Amino acid sequence: MTGIPWRNDIQYVKNIGPRRAALLKKLGINSLGDLLYLFPREYRDLNQLKNFYSLRHGDLATVRATVSAWDEVRPRKGLTLTRALMNDGLSNFMAVWFNQSHIKRQLSLGTVLLVSGKVNKSFSTPQLQVSEYEVEDGSELLNTGRIVPVYPLTEGLSQRVMRIILKSVLDQWLPGAKEFLPEAMLQKYLLPHLGESLSQVHYPESARHCHMARRRFIFEELFLQQLVTALQRHKVEEKLKPHRYLDKNILEEAFIKNLPFKLTPGQENAWLEIKTDMGRPNPANRLLQGDVGSGKTVLCVLALLRAVGSGLQGAVMAPTEILAQQHYNNFRKHLEPIGVRVGILKGSMGKKERSALLEGISLGSIELVVGTHALIQEDVKFKALAVVVVDEQHRFGVRQRALLAHKGSQPDILVMTATPIPRTLSLTLYGDLNITTIKGLPPGRRPVDTFLFKQAQFQNIMSHIKKEARQGRQSYIICPLVEESLKIDLQAATDLASGLSQEDLKDFNVGLVHGRMKGKEKEAIMEAFRAGAIDVLVSTTVVEVGVDVPNATTMVIIDAHRFGLAQLHQLRGRVGRGKEKSYCFLVSDNMGPDTRARLEAMVSTGDGFLLAEKDLSLRGPGEVWGTRQWGMVQYKIADPIRDIKAMEVARQEAAAIIAADPRLESPQNQVLLKTIMERFDHNLISSVIS
Ligand code: ADP
Ligand code: MG
Repeated sequence: MTGIPWRNDIQYVKNIGPRRAALLKKLGINSLGDLLYLFPREYRDLNQLKNFYSLRHGDLATVRATVSAWDEVRPRKGLTLTRALMNDGLSNFMAVWFNQSHIKRQLSLGTVLLVSGKVNKSFSTPQLQVSEYEVEDGSELLNTGRIVPVYPLTEGLSQRVMRIILKSVLDQWLPGAKEFLPEAMLQKYLLPHLGESLSQVHYPESARHCHMARRRFIFEELFLQQLVTALQRHKVEEKLKPHRYLDKNILEEAFIKNLPFKLTPGQENAWLEIKTDMGRPNPANRLLQGDVGSGKTVLCVLALLRAVGSGLQGAVMAPTEILAQQHYNNFRKHLEPIGVRVGILKGSMGKKERSALLEGISLGSIELVVGTHALIQEDVKFKALAVVVVDEQHRFGVRQRALLAHKGSQPDILVMTATPIPRTLSLTLYGDLNITTIKGLPPGRRPVDTFLFKQAQFQNIMSHIKKEARQGRQSYIICPLVEESLKIDLQAATDLASGLSQEDLKDFNVGLVHGRMKGKEKEAIMEAFRAGAIDVLVSTTVVEVGVDVPNATTMVIIDAHRFGLAQLHQLRGRVGRGKEKSYCFLVSDNMGPDTRARLEAMVSTGDGFLLAEKDLSLRGPGEVWGTRQWGMVQYKIADPIRDIKAMEVARQEAAAIIAADPRLESPQNQVLLKTIMERFDHNLISSVIS
């Protein structure tokens, strides 16, 4: 244990109280531990005191001086200057505060101040424009005259207040801080102790002290996280599953034989890996990643058929009703002829229909179930669920994956994603999963030509769409939709669809689909689009993942700047699925440098793995590829890319500890166990050591 009441609500911490607590909670700081681990986002070195006369115009410096007079002026509306004539013993200068009128209360004659800021010598009395200041009253300097921490803030909380809060928390709790990392580990990697590190990370004595303290917390964060991952992994790997699969699976063979194509070498290899894994006595826990359109669905079916062909059940969960429905239609087409009974479970279902289905699932007469989140509802019970597949898993949380797995007894789990992530990140994100990657795409795919267009060039896009439609090919037009402006966005999509069908595209069939439509309505539209009865589908991002209509050759994304790179890549993945040449138009009038870089990355490559790397370099790992949604721990100080070396070391150390003591039962590991109990979800840890 750290000796610090880690989980204490911050409201009861000295100097905080309910109002500040509410503000801190906005920053995600709920407990004393969160507060101590609120690492400064940067530091200002205001350590060196200077004589004002030695400074040059434009310098940033700290001066210690005495107030000899002050006044306040309002040169124009909205600007108040508080000015203090100061003397540092050698010269006079004017300290100036902008719009900080409250400072004048501290400016009595003779007050000694440390002021930091920028020097401006273009006035007859040279100025120092104050960014940080402190009254010298004998107490410890927090805001200047030292290396000063700069904290993340939220409206209503100032740096000065944050510094005071942190200082008093440190004063109160540091003496009780107990080390929890093994002493040998600290020595091996030259890491300072916890108490020392906390003190130096907030109020460092020197840049070197600061660096060492940060190194420690980076290592600590990675190590604890890897420790939890190693525990989870061990837990999974030591379990035995009750089911075994038949070696000779007639359904599998029949399915492959009836496919209109041959599996690609990439698919063959991936299937071999998955099949081998499923053949082990322990449940498989595997991530299948492959770029959009690489043909993951076939592998999903093969995994499910392993179960069905052995008299067991399989289930696949998809993030949208549209995708679930698509899988269901597909599966029925391919599997019913070979005698597999398939069912679909979704949110929008009649009561009668639903209870009949649930009965079939619980009796085992339905062998393969496709569904949305509806699958994880309480009352869904399986007779013998052996294989669980989560499609587009990045749309689900870790919890949902676990809930689905709990519908069976140690089922084999396959999660699929078309959102590849760089290897470096996969180590952190999926420590508890084994990874299979499908390499390559089915033959005959041609890269999707991608263009950047301005709104004003929309007519050119229309001409293109019409040309394609005349040749019997279909298009998507995607309108962005964000929760905050849902109504406006929906209206925009609706208006666009009706406008197009009355004017530009009046000779063609235009359809509209969005997430707010009734299930049946959505289904009908998608069915019509799939059947070719709709030429142009105006849609929100409900078609983002998984939708497979190979005859669609054009993807238009309106206001493309409102999408992240991962989403753009997914959307573009809706086309280029057939033999015909496909096109993607990214429409945006917003051409700020960030947008430009993102959209140009899309133009430059169609390779999801390359785009993931690109995304990483453009945005940093925190935001990459929507990693927030993966349900992973957010890093406070570590950066899995920058700190990849530390990551690997932490991983080895954690693995060694768990290999020797899989449930952290030995006396010397008790403090580690308590620490992860404090810092991670209590229930999660209890469940992995039980
Ligand atoms: P994703 O990996 O994005 O889920 P899908 O499984 O939807 O991709 O497959 C994309 C398309 O490629 C589908 O139309 C599918 O029928 C087709 N496909 C899959 N495997 C092959 C293959 N080996 N040869 C030719 N086409 C294939
Ligand atoms: Mg898919």
